[in-house]
Amino acid sequence: MMRLVLATHNKGKVRELRTLLADTDWEILTLSEFPRAPIVTEDGVTFRDNAIKKAREISHALGEVTLADDSGLEVDYLNGAPGVHSARFAGYNGNDAANNEKLLRLLKGVPWEKRTARFRCVVALADPSGKVVTTEGVCEGLITNEPRGENGFGYDPLFFVPEYRKTFAELDGSIKNSISHRARALRKVKKLLQEFINK
Ligand code: IMP
Repeated sequence: MMRLVLATHNKGKVRELRTLLADTDWEILTLSEFPRAPIVTEDGVTFRDNAIKKAREISHALGEVTLADDSGLEVDYLNGAPGVHSARFAGYNGNDAANNEKLLRLLKGVPWEKRTARFRCVVALADPSGKVVTTEGVCEGLITNEPRGENGFGYDPLFFVPEYRKTFAELDGSIKNSISHRARALRKVKKLLQEFINK
């Protein structure tokens, strides 16, 4: 069985990635199984820069084929913010409640039709030699006026998907997993996995 390391500590993402890769014959490992994995600073200007940096550095350090993703929310009214700063929008890394409050504050009074946004995800697959491929997925939506729903993580309670008339946090996990930015990027990378290791 081929081994694939998921280069993330985010439990929500690990859960989603594991589900999305469940029908492959890859053995999925996470960073919790590699305590000596380096901590990679996400200082890139784009999602792609960060995903490549994470996948390459961790693959090189562990000697394992590694999949990294970088993702975030782009709000049109805020000229694409929070973008690559999504996890630390309110100043502290990974404080979802503070990030959501800040987003709602910045969009206070902004009419519905101007609250368009999208989640974007870039997935990078790297091997220890430094070879890398990337794919991208996008999911379009609107930012609600208040949080709705209990599922998911991050900005999910504020991200409304018109097609389902629900936020990501109100949607069943299996539906989110079929339409999300990460699902779309990952479906593309899944097609490349076999070819990637054979080349
Ligand atoms: P990353 O871990 O550097 O990719 O940061 C991603 C950040 O973007 C997360 O901490 C969340 O704030 C946000 N984000 C990315 N994907 C999602 C999602 O599917 N739902 C909600 N928030 C997300």
